[in-house]
Amino acid sequence: MPAADLHLHSTASDGSDAPARVVERAAALGLGTIALTDHDTTAGLAEAAAAAATHDIAFLPGVEISAWYAASEVHVTGLGIDAYHPELQAALTTLTRDRDHRMQSILALLEENGIHLDESALRAKAGHGAIGRMHVALALMDAGVTKIAQEGFDRFLNPGRPAWVPKACIPVEDAVALIHGAGGLAFIAHPGLSKSLRKLTPQLLGLPFDGIEAWHPSHSPGRIAEYKALAYERGLLVAGGSDCHGTVKGKPTMGTVRVQGKYAQRIQEALARA
Ligand code: AMP
Ligand code: ZN
Ligand code: FE
Ligand code: FE
Repeated sequence: MPAADLHLHSTASDGSDAPARVVERAAALGLGTIALTDHDTTAGLAEAAAAAATHDIAFLPGVEISAWYAASEVHVTGLGIDAYHPELQAALTTLTRDRDHRMQSILALLEENGIHLDESALRAKAGHGAIGRMHVALALMDAGVTKIAQEGFDRFLNPGRPAWVPKACIPVEDAVALIHGAGGLAFIAHPGLSKSLRKLTPQLLGLPFDGIEAWHPSHSPGRIAEYKALAYERGLLVAGGSDCHGTVKGKPTMGTVRVQGKYAQRIQEALARA
């Protein structure tokens, strides 16, 4: 059974590849199932679904919702959602609108630090969907202020840096409920990404999540085994993937993290029952 990649980003959020190009990459890598999980938007799903059909790849419509829990940012991956569900759409519209306002604040703070970025050019490049710090990091590179995107985060955009502006998130309970309301399954995204997230995971598992992401580029083989065992113990599904953003962070990560096809099949079966 061909492998799966159930965590991917496109130009609908902060990836460099259009949704159809994401699918093309997946096809070239021989993947059998993929999910597009852009940050706080479903804007890329229709294009990706159409492309997946032509490439004979099974497609799960997804989203990665920015949520908070215990004053920390937690990402919730929804798989198999109805992208047109009104309550989900309303919440995502609020989140993306807030990202627009936040962008103005970030640019104002950069201005105070003597860095002028052309807002309309930045927005044009970001396209429609969800705008985020990555778009600023890329604009800083284009302006010659930084050499790589990471430098923009480290010098300006991360917490404690001069242009840090927190993002509006929704309570993690609401993110899970919205995904369920839209007929999808909710997963704790990349629980091993940071120390704070690792500490919160046991508490998060008290919420009605359907599963956790065991696979992620930030997860060591030991960590993956640990999350698989945890999921097995709790009767939860496992998901995950490359969290590929195309070329924005250097080489595309798609293909480096492969989810065995049988786990994608279990997710499909759970969706059929839901
Ligand atoms: P935002 O959602 O606008 O706060 O942007 C966060 C996104 O930027 C993450 O989901 C990553 O895709 C990307 N990113 C890349 N490098 C970094 C970094 N060093 N720190 C935080 N976010 C990063
Ligand atoms: Zn991202
Ligand atoms: Fe994430
Ligand atoms: Fe992601």
